[in-house]
Amino acid sequence: MSNHAKSRELFDEAIDLFPGGVNSPVRAFKSVNMDPIYMKEGKGSKIYDVDGNEYIDYVLSWGPLILGHAHEQVISTLKNVMEKGTSFGANVEYENKLAKLVIDRVPSIEMLRMVNSGTEATMSALRLARGYTGRDKILKFEGNYHGHGDSLLIKAGSGVATLGLPDSPGVPSSIAQNTITVPYNDQDSVAYAFEQYGDDIAAVIVEPVSGNMGVVPPINDFLSFLRDMTEKNGSLLIFDEVMTGFRVGYHCAQGHFNVTPDLTCLGKVIGGGLPVGAYGGKREIMEKIAPTGDIYQAGTLSGNPLAMAAGYETLNQLTEQSYKDISQKADRLTEGYQHAAEKHGVPLQVNRAGSMLGFFFTNQDVINFETAQTSDVDWFAKYYRSMADQGVFLPPSQFEGVFLSTVHTGEDIEQTIKAADQAFNSYNG
Ligand code: PMP
Repeated sequence: MSNHAKSRELFDEAIDLFPGGVNSPVRAFKSVNMDPIYMKEGKGSKIYDVDGNEYIDYVLSWGPLILGHAHEQVISTLKNVMEKGTSFGANVEYENKLAKLVIDRVPSIEMLRMVNSGTEATMSALRLARGYTGRDKILKFEGNYHGHGDSLLIKAGSGVATLGLPDSPGVPSSIAQNTITVPYNDQDSVAYAFEQYGDDIAAVIVEPVSGNMGVVPPINDFLSFLRDMTEKNGSLLIFDEVMTGFRVGYHCAQGHFNVTPDLTCLGKVIGGGLPVGAYGGKREIMEKIAPTGDIYQAGTLSGNPLAMAAGYETLNQLTEQSYKDISQKADRLTEGYQHAAEKHGVPLQVNRAGSMLGFFFTNQDVINFETAQTSDVDWFAKYYRSMADQGVFLPPSQFEGVFLSTVHTGEDIEQTIKAADQAFNSYNG
């Protein structure tokens, strides 16, 4: 058994400092019945806790660290930039450098605005969509999480699903009533919503691959269907690519599925481990934002030089080949898990999109929030603790995706499969 004495000591202290001892709910490890592990440092695919335990890391700071921890180029650029000052509240060259890479790679983005988090990106994109169309309603999907903005924290996935909060106390009903929520991958429900509210719907916002109810890819050309419906009804289509952006492929999910939204939200990888978000799209729409337009949005630290530099160096390291290489590792991990599950009679569904993986402990195909919830969460918790004990750090919730990086080695993957085999050995249905 690993020793977690120092982690426990720090958590005992934190419990009095922060609600639940954490600054983001899922870090409480509640759904896996563990005390949080305090991390100290990371290098490549490995992360080390304060008690000196080493783990192969599949959390990667919840997605951003596609190059692994403390990538040499990212760190050396950050050191150089930092020595010249941390923030100016004025334009810096790295903003242009990062923006040019984003525009070059993301089909829908002609122009963008940098912000500081994924939440800010989605909130701002909604305001823009509403301002641009002059409409109030938003259509979103059950189990899709778009950050904690009022309009969007309604039937959201991940932390909310994990903690079993069906709705969101504190969200005014006057705001919630402008959010229509329908099941993911359900074209009939979308068509029905447009029949009922078509003229009032400013935008459909969707995770092009859902990553907040575990990983659930779109089926039956769901994204093309949304493109058609929004176009027919004069609504905007917003892809929330905070998680999928620069993760599922070089041209993001929209390049992978060949569907171009009007607006795209980014976060995570685009900041290379520093706080960055962005939203962008057609020039004609983006120019409605202040100061060219009258839709207001601003930020003291937006375009921060350190954050822009980390994002730039991260994207700069990624090539089309990087994604093929990561995908191969994800193939092997999938195959190993499936084999181990079969061997021990563990019900397992694996959903995949590039280097995002969702392992669900159920016999049902997982295509939406309802089917994701058929997963055996008690067994997940037991499996989770065994994996952590064997030095594999996974997201501490059944409803979060597992991420791979460019620096996970073949040996890491084999070691992880071996650990899963060991964990599955204790399955007793
Ligand atoms: N959208 C999606 C798809 C996300 O996965 C997340 C975070 N997991 C967000 C938005 C919110 O991003 P942030 O936590 O940076 O505010």
